[in-house]
Amino acid sequence: MAQDFANQTHSPAMPSQTRRKHRPSSLKCAWHTVQQSLGKLFAIKAVYIPILAGILLLLAITTVSSLSVDASVQLTHEEWLQPEENNLLKHANSAQKVIVKAGDSAISSLNTLGFNFSEIMAMQAASKKIHPLSHVQAGHAFIRHDIDAVSHVYYDIDAGQKLHLSRTEATWHAALEKMPVTHRQVYVQATISDSLFVDAAKAGLDDRTTMNLVDVFAWDIDFARDLRKGDSFQILYEEQYNDAGKIIGTTILNAVFTNQGRSYHAIRYQLKNGKEGYYSLDGKSLRKAYLKAPVKYSRISSRFRSARKHPVLGYTRAHKGVDYAARTGTPIHALGDGRIVFAGWKGGYGRLVEIRHTNRNHHTRYGHMSKFGRGIHKGVRVKQGQIIGYVGMSGLATGPHLHFEFRVRGRAMNPLRVKHTPAKPVPKAEIASFKQHADSLQNSLKLAARQSEWG
Ligand SMILES: [Zn+2]
Repeated sequence: MAQDFANQTHSPAMPSQTRRKHRPSSLKCAWHTVQQSLGKLFAIKAVYIPILAGILLLLAITTVSSLSVDASVQLTHEEWLQPEENNLLKHANSAQKVIVKAGDSAISSLNTLGFNFSEIMAMQAASKKIHPLSHVQAGHAFIRHDIDAVSHVYYDIDAGQKLHLSRTEATWHAALEKMPVTHRQVYVQATISDSLFVDAAKAGLDDRTTMNLVDVFAWDIDFARDLRKGDSFQILYEEQYNDAGKIIGTTILNAVFTNQGRSYHAIRYQLKNGKEGYYSLDGKSLRKAYLKAPVKYSRISSRFRSARKHPVLGYTRAHKGVDYAARTGTPIHALGDGRIVFAGWKGGYGRLVEIRHTNRNHHTRYGHMSKFGRGIHKGVRVKQGQIIGYVGMSGLATGPHLHFEFRVRGRAMNPLRVKHTPAKPVPKAEIASFKQHADSLQNSLKLAARQSEWG
């Protein structure tokens, strides 16, 4: 890894780029065909509809029988229904549920729930403007329950809303129902002794929030190289729950990360124009033109101890770059916005991507890739953080790692010394309101920290 391969000229065979296969979605096509045929039917003559719909229904049933549909089950408890509806369910024993399986359509699911084709078409028409049934996704459920003469069908769109279809007499109605979301503030603090993810998890932080924490500080801290035993963080975040008590998301409100003795603050703030972002205590944006590192610290990153076995190389005049030891396949992110000026094989670099950044004097190079990112080739524009390739050991490399260079006017510079220009700070007109918000979040953090010390 320590080789200076920049001057190597031998060029191994050109890499064969991985082709992505597109899985044909024949079922979706079938659904569209049915929709189209019905459209044509209406255009022909209303008299023929019952006959033709009957034929189509037979066809639909044939299609359905060939699909793997989850058997409808008697409902005893349904998590995403509201409490009142749960009560209704107890009285209505006819409640049935079907989970949409991969490759399934709404037709087959609704058919399993006992609706015939013309009813399904009417449901489709009713829901079209609210949540089209063609948008139905695998893993989501349809629930039917009939109360007196009214049929109700629920489809869980996401954790926050569901589609409610109801039939009174012969007409289907569709409505979008929001599910109540409750919030809770949580405080977690941890000192890193093992690895960021392990210690964060021990302190009670879920992996998704830990990843968000890494993302919030991605412009200031190189988590892949700079994390040390003894580093610590405090985080105040909000958990969002649905009415079933399930966490549907978390948002970091205030975080402090202490890396090698230096503390970085992140205050979440919404500007008057509605844009949300993270700012330092004095209102400077954490967002900068370049990320601190092209690889993210991930759960599978090696522990600090093993760093001795796989030395992470820093910048030297001979080496011209910084090496990131990471597993083959670890995503590599564009350090900043720009355009790809090279994506191919280049001597000892192996598979190399070079980006010319918005500041046209700045180029970054990423070598030894195992493969390029989706759609990455010369001339393409890339956004900061976009995956441009994956770690490998192509070219002259003794083990999987990323060789990273930052070039200013064509000369390799120490990436760790490059000045990073921050994005716009909180505007002057809003700074007083920001300070007030930051103070209140700081107080909440301090209070929570004190409470957690006292157990
Ligand atoms: Zn290197």
